[in-house]
Amino acid sequence: MSIYKNCRIDTNSPLQWFQVDELGRIADFGIGTPTSEDANTIDLLGRHIQPAFVDAHCHILPTGLDLIKLHLGTANSVADVLDLVRQRHADHPEGWIHAVHYDQNKYGKDVTLEELDKISSIRPILLRHVSGHSSVANTAALLAAGVHENTPDPDGGHYGRDADGRLNGQLFEHAHEIVTNASPNPTLEEMVDAIMLAGESMNAFGISCASDMMTGRFDLALELNAYRIAAERGCKIATRLYLQWNTVFGRKSLDKDLFDDLVKKLDLAPSSRCKVAGIKIFADGAIGSATAAIYGSFSGATSDGPVLAHHARAAKHAEKEVSGTLIYSPEKLKKMVLTAHEVGYQVSIHSIGDYATDLVLDAFEATGNPEKHRIEHAMILSDSQIERLAKLNPYVTFQPEFLCRFAHSYKKQLGNRSANLIRVRSVLDAGLRVSFNSDRPIVAGDPRTGIEAAVNRPEGYNPAEACTYAEAISAYTVEGSRVNGDGDYWGSLSRGSSGEFVFL
Ligand SMILES: [Zn+2]
Repeated sequence: MSIYKNCRIDTNSPLQWFQVDELGRIADFGIGTPTSEDANTIDLLGRHIQPAFVDAHCHILPTGLDLIKLHLGTANSVADVLDLVRQRHADHPEGWIHAVHYDQNKYGKDVTLEELDKISSIRPILLRHVSGHSSVANTAALLAAGVHENTPDPDGGHYGRDADGRLNGQLFEHAHEIVTNASPNPTLEEMVDAIMLAGESMNAFGISCASDMMTGRFDLALELNAYRIAAERGCKIATRLYLQWNTVFGRKSLDKDLFDDLVKKLDLAPSSRCKVAGIKIFADGAIGSATAAIYGSFSGATSDGPVLAHHARAAKHAEKEVSGTLIYSPEKLKKMVLTAHEVGYQVSIHSIGDYATDLVLDAFEATGNPEKHRIEHAMILSDSQIERLAKLNPYVTFQPEFLCRFAHSYKKQLGNRSANLIRVRSVLDAGLRVSFNSDRPIVAGDPRTGIEAAVNRPEGYNPAEACTYAEAISAYTVEGSRVNGDGDYWGSLSRGSSGEFVFL
């Protein structure tokens, strides 16, 4: 039992105390001095406290895997990059060398394949660009992916070449993905370490509970075990897992007994440190790559955008002019949602474009229980769509930090339409349940950055869509708990809820 005294939950509120029990729940609280005190009483000296944040949409394992990789953020020149890679090679003598946050714009020129080959001609070396869309490889990495001098460029990407037409190690878009995917999957132990590290870094931002929105990207059985083991070893955040549809119902699905056994090992209560929360489906792509499924067209769209061959092009299915990429046909999407819904799962769908959102709402409506499910991103919404959303009432999740990080590519692809991205005010006014999250690791993921962006929309975005601080904090705390199916257990300061809070 710990007692915290002399804190305020609002700038003008009186001093308060909280008592937290052995299970980490708020057992009691009140105004003034605590009814009992002991040696463990912590005096917060009048500080303002709020419930810990809930990040209900991010990628926990990938966040941790990036933390394990060599970070090039401190490098300012090609020589710095090579020094760091050489050091890594000496310190960790086995396997691939993966580096992140490579940025040739800072160095003035690119690292060459020859320079990397001089560090090792046997070990694959791959430096990922800070954008996540390109990388530089050495010869061993290219060979591991089966890429030779006469390998043709893949759809939606290309291998960089020098003036003589020889491979120079530069990899763009799908070519970058092909070589990245050639590296071996992390082992169970590596996954556990990565999840623990991610938990630590997120907890340092005041986050108590977070949702992994794509569990099963490598191997569902390994990942379920890794998240459970991380929880048992005291991972600093509670984890909620949204399993990729294909790994449960589709071509990558596990043996049913094995799957049931893995899920049974997880405690499903709201206070659980790790549990399966639902099923994740992607309806479309992203704005920056012109692959979100939108009405109208992208102003900066190029014909060689990264459209994967098996994806149905949006244009095939609509009567109006549409652009971008649907990951599944409308019929298939509806079937997938119904399949997961009938088993009792909450379904969470990535939908960035307004056209994709219409199809997602059609699918949710078909379940007869649309308020159970969640739509992720919903970045482009018309007034009539907001009316329809309000009628069906699914949870809506927004990632306001995107407004700061990707303004340039939004403007390039959507022109003036980008001003109305992420319509927080309109969606809240329509009465919808809104949670804010980060989607890290594609952004840094400090909840304060997201809250700031939602309250003071950055230059170039319609200020009429801003919300208040109180609304933003609630969206980044208790609303995250609710959308995860945990009621008010996380992100609220009430009796019986999690006693994790942050002080400011
Ligand atoms: Zn995501």
